[in-house]
Amino acid sequence: MKENEILKIYGTDYKEMTKRLLMEAELEKRIPGKEARIGIKPNLVSPSEASWGATTHPEIVAGIVEYLQERGFSKLLILEGSWVGDKTSESAEVCGYLDLCSQYGIPFVDTQKDSFHARDCKGLELKLCDQAVDLDFLINVPVLKGHCQTKLTCALKNMKGLIPNQEKRHFHALGLHKPIAHLNAGLHQDFIVVDHICGDLDFEDGGNPVVRNCIMAAADPVLVDAHAADLLYYRPEEIPYIKMAEELGVGSADLSRLQIRLIGEKSTVEDGKRLPESRKVVELKDAVEEVESCSACYGYLIPALAMLKDEGLFEKLHEKISIGQGFRGKEGTLGVGNCTRKFAYSCPGCPPTEQEIYEFLKTYLNGKNA
Ligand code: SF4
Repeated sequence: MKENEILKIYGTDYKEMTKRLLMEAELEKRIPGKEARIGIKPNLVSPSEASWGATTHPEIVAGIVEYLQERGFSKLLILEGSWVGDKTSESAEVCGYLDLCSQYGIPFVDTQKDSFHARDCKGLELKLCDQAVDLDFLINVPVLKGHCQTKLTCALKNMKGLIPNQEKRHFHALGLHKPIAHLNAGLHQDFIVVDHICGDLDFEDGGNPVVRNCIMAAADPVLVDAHAADLLYYRPEEIPYIKMAEELGVGSADLSRLQIRLIGEKSTVEDGKRLPESRKVVELKDAVEEVESCSACYGYLIPALAMLKDEGLFEKLHEKISIGQGFRGKEGTLGVGNCTRKFAYSCPGCPPTEQEIYEFLKTYLNGKNA
């Protein structure tokens, strides 16, 4: 497979599709020897089964593991850390990864519990988990989906699971885009298998899956993300971390160089279909004033607002809802999360869950908090 290629396959037998894709991509030739320590990094953002559109289908990872084990690669591990607010151990169990690891006899590394060290990532010092740094070869397996803060999450942003929780909070304080780009400059991903089976086009933690039944393989994470942006009707330059990563030398966002190679009989027809243009988040975001909020906090607020909208209550909201670390110690009217605890009305929790935020806002809007 060439650096400017993306291979795509469509269908419903995800494990076999993945193995075929890796064979066509000649993944084996890229790995530096049978003794290489190979890490596989899925997206297990929260304890939510893959069919809900947030997490990586375990069948894809099973396909990667079988492909590698059949070719004599034995030093494999799966590593991931859920977002702040959820335990990786719970996500790994609910998403089927503990069963998968025991079936194939490979370890699961919870990066929320891993040791870490600060390292220079091309001019920005970031804390990276030691197990990720120690790998010889990293296979990133992101879900292509929407994100209520960065618009998109795919190969570049998925690497955030390889930093400790304290650094994740720091990322939000740094504005997300710049640290995501630098993280990718400091921690190299060697190969990417994209789960484009049924990602949620609005919410990072799923709930509204849009079925595409596609899996992709690529070597350039910047090119993959530029293509993913295009699929979601964004220009790559609308997602700052893509261009920043390109400028740091992580890869190329030049879509004129992209060559798509379709694998399998059905793929030409399926690849011609466009995704629905979903922008549910845009209207809801207008009700929020966000300064340095963590992914989970913000990621729970937006679906809670969507629930209020479905019930006709969202229109009753006339105040902006403040959220994020930037409101710590400040006063205001309506806030979500412990960072806004000094506000007149504040939903407690760090982060509060989607249901807690929904109940709090519903009570507030119905005047019971007044
Ligand atoms: S309350 Fe503040 S620190 Fe806690 S998750 Fe929300 S934004 Fe982050």
